[in-house]
Amino acid sequence: MKEALLYEKADGRAVICNLCAHRCFIPPGRVGICHVRENRAGVLYTLVYDRVISLNIDPIEKKPFFHFLPGTRSYSIATVGCNFHCRFCQNWEISQMAGDRNGLILGEKTSPEEIVRGALQTGCKTIAYTYTEPTIFFELAYDAARLAVNEGLRNLFVTNGYITPEALRMIQPYLHGANLDLKGFDDRRYRRVCGAKLQPVLDTIRLMKELGIWVEVTTLVVPGHNDSDQELRQIAIFLREVGAEIPWHLSAFFPAYKMLDVEPTDRQTLMRAWAIGKEAGLRHVYIGNLADNVHEDTTCYQCGNRLVQRFGFTVRRNLLDDGRCPFCHASVEGVWKNEFLKAEAGVTHFSPNLKEVIP
Ligand code: SF4
Repeated sequence: MKEALLYEKADGRAVICNLCAHRCFIPPGRVGICHVRENRAGVLYTLVYDRVISLNIDPIEKKPFFHFLPGTRSYSIATVGCNFHCRFCQNWEISQMAGDRNGLILGEKTSPEEIVRGALQTGCKTIAYTYTEPTIFFELAYDAARLAVNEGLRNLFVTNGYITPEALRMIQPYLHGANLDLKGFDDRRYRRVCGAKLQPVLDTIRLMKELGIWVEVTTLVVPGHNDSDQELRQIAIFLREVGAEIPWHLSAFFPAYKMLDVEPTDRQTLMRAWAIGKEAGLRHVYIGNLADNVHEDTTCYQCGNRLVQRFGFTVRRNLLDDGRCPFCHASVEGVWKNEFLKAEAGVTHFSPNLKEVIP
């Protein structure tokens, strides 16, 4: 057990956790909404610091990141717990374990050093904090991320975006990319289906861009919930306003957890969503989770030529080594291979999409 970061003491040995936008008020002997941060006699502890429940070496495309070192592998870890309780959660066995199973927290004893060593030994270029919600295992992610940067690795969050600005600013020097879930554009549904508010998620997307973190966004398109033209357009317009270069991943829903009564997303709906994203002015809109692998390639937003050819999670061809379209020389935003190699050689100045990394 490790004392938590980012909390303050309140009256009567209560504490306020400032890690995510819930800002839980936690009396002694109680846990926060995520069920993995506990107040013991006025001290807040993380219960998952050394308890890794999932560890896989994934293609980075599976996260999904399509504009960050395509074709590389990402050392992917998670602990139990989440600050959201989405009824359609696809990883509910681990994200909701503690809440659903009377405080049960499983996981292998693992240290930040072991995580970084594992990533290096398996030839991964990045560590992805993923599957559940990295914000709730912030202390572990923060310690691993700092070590990782020293070893030339890059760090990625796959997140619901509910992190507080102070937590994000704290990890920003070590965080290079994030794929944020934007689950819709209706605050009431966010509260009802996920147990959270919409606005903090939107604020995080903006702040990450401001801080120079590479951002991609995923929307799980759930039939009858967030798949109206109006709502999809609202999402697309918001993203375009923050940055037309933000890749938007549209993912097919499959019935899971507490949403077993909704049909899987059909191809037509995803194609309609894709068209709405393009119409709104987004440069890169992708479809995921469909059997026929449609709209997975990266094309040049200026000349339309195919630049990265994918099949599922495999990159078959990548013409974007230096981030420029070889046909019309348009600059395609992302973190491409050459930038990483420069970083390995000790160069610390990156494209405008990346902050300067000072190990
Ligand atoms: S991280 Fe957990 S305890 Fe902290 S504010 Fe969020 S839900 Fe509450």
